[in-house]
Amino acid sequence: MIQMKEVYKRYPNGIMAANNFDIHIKPGEFVYVVGPSGAGKSTFIKMMYREEKPTKGNILINGVDITNLKASRVPYLRRNIGVVFQDFKLLSRLTVYENIAFALEVIEEHPKSIKKRVMEVLDLVGLKHKARMMPDELSGGEQQRISIARSIVNTPKVVIADEPTGNLDPETSWEIMNLFEEINTRGTTIVMATHNREIVNTIRHRVIAIENGLIVRDEARGEYGYES
Ligand code: ADP
Ligand code: ADP
Repeated sequence: MIQMKEVYKRYPNGIMAANNFDIHIKPGEFVYVVGPSGAGKSTFIKMMYREEKPTKGNILINGVDITNLKASRVPYLRRNIGVVFQDFKLLSRLTVYENIAFALEVIEEHPKSIKKRVMEVLDLVGLKHKARMMPDELSGGEQQRISIARSIVNTPKVVIADEPTGNLDPETSWEIMNLFEEINTRGTTIVMATHNREIVNTIRHRVIAIENGLIVRDEARGEYGYES
């Protein structure tokens, strides 16, 4: 499903953010990516959706080698991978409904079926009644729910999240985690970079720890392993 083979990433400033990453993530897995700030977690995640290209090595998503994917094919990759960010990245001039509909890659889709799908994901995140609101009228937790709805509207096999609870209070963070659990239970693979020790040590899943551009730990049902 997701495979990295001898992947290296060296930024132009000389920093080695990925030093021989070799990992295999199977369909339906839930994987936490942990490690200190600057360790290489975001780089690991960005390479999966081609926001960054590896300097060396290969990355396969659903059997497709995305390493040398043509720019024109990147939208097709993005349709199979949902992405959720710490700061939500909703479009402030669009309504909640429009933010999600916009993300739906529409190929000769009947308007009725588009609306059905958007309302379906809004229902899943519990915010159907906020469809007409603007993002800045919502709480942080609600905005993250909308960005999660947006990430799954194309029914991707994989959802990648970079510190999705980083801007949220503990209670809201747990609600957001329950949503990811639900999405994972329905069969979607989840890869999540996080600093949330409590969550990693409570909702147990595979843990990949990165330090200084090196994968130092990869455990099924692992622990967070850092003090803060
Ligand atoms: P993390 O997500 O674990 O905090 P990152 O993947 O963001 O780590 O960064 C890993 C290392 O690569 C850090 O030393 C960071 O400063 C460096 N880095 C990240 N992005 C860039 C970039 N675009 N250009 C140069 N160096 C970068
Ligand atoms: P349901 O009856 O399934 O709840 P509604 O038609 O009542 O769906 O729509 C729920 C919300 O979604 C309403 O606030 C509506 O304005 C909004 N909405 C529905 N379709 C669109 C659209 N195409 N563009 C913008 N908002 C929409």
